[in-house]
Amino acid sequence: MSETAPVPGKIPATPPGRSHDVSREWFRRAVGVTPGGVNSPVRAFSAVGGEPFFVARGEGARIWDVDGNEYLDYVLSWGPLILGHAHPALVDAVRDAALRGTSYGAPTPAEVELAEAVRDFFPSMERLRFVNSGTEATMSAVRLARGFTGRPLILKFEGCYHGHGDSFLVKAGSGVATLGLPNSPGVPEELSKLTLTAPFNDAEAVAEAFRSHPGRIAAVILEPVVGNAGFLAPADGFLAELRRITEEDGALLVFDEVMTGFRVAPGGAQERFGVRPDLTTLGKVIGGGLPVGAYGGRRDVMEQVAPAGPVYQAGTLSGNPLAMAAGLAQLRLLRDRDLYGELERRTARLVRGLLANAEEAGVPATGGHYGSMWGTFFAEGPVRDFAEAKRSDVALFRRYFHECLARGVFFAPSAFEAGFLSTAHTETDVEETIGRAREALLAALA
Ligand SMILES: *Cc1c(COP(=O)(O)O)cnc(C)c1O
Repeated sequence: MSETAPVPGKIPATPPGRSHDVSREWFRRAVGVTPGGVNSPVRAFSAVGGEPFFVARGEGARIWDVDGNEYLDYVLSWGPLILGHAHPALVDAVRDAALRGTSYGAPTPAEVELAEAVRDFFPSMERLRFVNSGTEATMSAVRLARGFTGRPLILKFEGCYHGHGDSFLVKAGSGVATLGLPNSPGVPEELSKLTLTAPFNDAEAVAEAFRSHPGRIAAVILEPVVGNAGFLAPADGFLAELRRITEEDGALLVFDEVMTGFRVAPGGAQERFGVRPDLTTLGKVIGGGLPVGAYGGRRDVMEQVAPAGPVYQAGTLSGNPLAMAAGLAQLRLLRDRDLYGELERRTARLVRGLLANAEEAGVPATGGHYGSMWGTFFAEGPVRDFAEAKRSDVALFRRYFHECLARGVFFAPSAFEAGFLSTAHTETDVEETIGRAREALLAALA
């Protein structure tokens, strides 16, 4: 590569050597019509600076922007596309469904088939309900947990993301079990006070919260493997300890497997770590790239949901036939367990290669993966919680991100996001990625 090295610490607005004129024009128009020019904040590259590219199309492991630049994609729509872009089976399923109508507002067989398929992967989801996003799933699960237990508080972990529901936009105050403070204007303090927080991997902090609020906590909700603070693995025994603490107090344990579901194992983190939650939330992979979320779990809890019970939750487009068709097509292909072995081996190779690049360059780095969900930090390891993640070298990540992008490798535009792999990423793609990332890192350090 013959690009000129960027000024250290300065982010090139346009990756060197590649034109982004058409994207820039679309972004200018977008900013004139929607806040920040995007329909979800991270897409604006707000964490890394610069401007986003606009996508023209995707196929397999690759996407192309409106200027014709090609990228190996490790964002994969932030997780859903475990089979890659435009998988023929999904495209056919959606096309066939669309020809029969896009929505009816009445039940269809596909909803039952997908629910049964989900339960085959997640036996703890004895009953489940489809919604349209992960956010809706977690909001509904928390309402249900409160309705079922008659308790007001929830406990979440610092750095875990559960969508943009009011109750989840709360970060830790000073220390353990402190009452939360809103970190988004618009969330009333009265509401955020009902969300307790603890550091991830700190079971003692959770036990302390339960000692301070006995019989008052409706649910503990967490990403069992964190992907939204960067990639954080649960410490040995952490999930089992949460299971024990919640059970003892009569609170519900909610695994938010919107990201980990079908990713860290076919049956999610609950299968991988052998811990059975009371409720599970899903999204991302179950929709195959169409808007689907789901929440489900213990039958006695789920039977409280309307119309079976009194806890209200509804949706005009819930169980949408196009979305169900895409989800079903994707889950059918994921029944092939060999596919998971291959995905995990390739993901392990990628992470090993990226860490070797850093070692060669003399940069402290750490990382990990479960299944096809992975992440690295520019930090001395191990990184066990959000506080440690925030001590990683974010400035270096920013330069690295842009240098990777300039070499046709699209990693998530934030140091605090997980990466993904799809079955469409070949061994050659992964080796190519490691090589380009090596050049990118050297350029970022230059
Ligand atoms: C993405 C995500 C959500 C939110 O899902 P949306 O479909 O974006 O609303 C919730 N929880 C986790 C763990 C996620 O990764």
